[in-house]
Amino acid sequence: MTTSRHITDIIIHCAATKNGDSLFRPHPNGGANIPPVAIIDDWHRQRGFKRSEEARKRQNPQLTSIGYHYVIYTNGAVATGRAEWEIGAHVAGQNSRSIGICLIGTDKFTKEQWAKLAELVKLLQKQYPGAKVLGHRDYSPDLNGNGIIEPQEWTKICPGFTVADWLKAGMQPLAGHIFEAPAQ
Ligand SMILES: [Zn+2]
Repeated sequence: MTTSRHITDIIIHCAATKNGDSLFRPHPNGGANIPPVAIIDDWHRQRGFKRSEEARKRQNPQLTSIGYHYVIYTNGAVATGRAEWEIGAHVAGQNSRSIGICLIGTDKFTKEQWAKLAELVKLLQKQYPGAKVLGHRDYSPDLNGNGIIEPQEWTKICPGFTVADWLKAGMQPLAGHIFEAPAQ
């Protein structure tokens, strides 16, 4: 039974949802709202992703499909999806040796999200020494072969910001990508 994997890449994604939308949704039968992790689980089920029975028995049995390992909510809470030892489903060709983190939003994230992302990535870097931290779009093909994945080469815009800039800035919230709640 697999309990650990060799992790070389920590990959950041966004949910491609409206910036600032918490993605909590009312339950049709009332009661507690449906959390974002369950909404994403639904999307991934519709795309045909499937977790193994074994994995579900060990973590988050209610999530049948979600491809990410972590989801960071607009309020800064972190929800777990797949277990870290479990192969994710988030970047074709990279899943076996990576961890996938998804931020709710598209390209603007709350200060709480930025803080939690920094905390989580630092923790994972400690756990998986030497692992690179990249954004989904950094895996786009380098079409002109110059060694740099340029904006015109991005197959997706996910996660909506340049992870290398964020790392260079010491994992501080990235200017132009901070969601400020409108005044009430
Ligand atoms: Zn992505």
